[in-house]
Amino acid sequence: MLTMDQVCNPHYSDDEIERYSMGTLDAVTLAKLEEHLLICDPCRQRVSASDAYLAALRQAAKEVIAETEKPDRPAVAPRADN
Ligand SMILES: [Zn+2]
Repeated sequence: MLTMDQVCNPHYSDDEIERYSMGTLDAVTLAKLEEHLLICDPCRQRVSASDAYLAALRQAAKEVIAETEKPDRPAVAPRADN
């Protein structure tokens, strides 16, 4: 049985898909979205795309942190405007 919500919004927004991947959706939306995923192939594919994107993003963030934590980085940048 379709609710009014599902009729008006046949698919979830990119924002909701992304929040689902990040695990930051509220419990009610999460339950509805998971139910939707059971019957909706396109949204499942968007979730896996979003998962892959977030994994790449996390990997990139890790590399940035590793880069800024290099011990040979000067603690204070030289200033020429004094
Ligand atoms: Zn869908």
